[in-house]
Amino acid sequence: MLTCKTCNLQFIDRPEYQRHIRSCTTEVEVTCQNGVFVVFRNVAGHFDCQCGDDGCPRPFQSGDALKAHLKKKKSIWVTVDRV
Ligand SMILES: [Zn+2]
Ligand SMILES: [Zn+2]
Repeated sequence: MLTCKTCNLQFIDRPEYQRHIRSCTTEVEVTCQNGVFVVFRNVAGHFDCQCGDDGCPRPFQSGDALKAHLKKKKSIWVTVDRV
């Protein structure tokens, strides 16, 4: 039995487990106009976008969704936790 260290979900199948691990990370590295930043999954299980866009900070379900948003908006990250 394989257990996800992030959410404790259990898997019998290794490929399925590995696919899950990729989408179940606790942190994601994002690239903005003003640098590269690390975003951590919050207690609600979301990644909060802290860019300067109207409507942000806003939660994203996955790191990929957050990255897509930043790419589209070409926005500036406003927090200071630079990598
Ligand atoms: Zn998980
Ligand atoms: Zn944003």
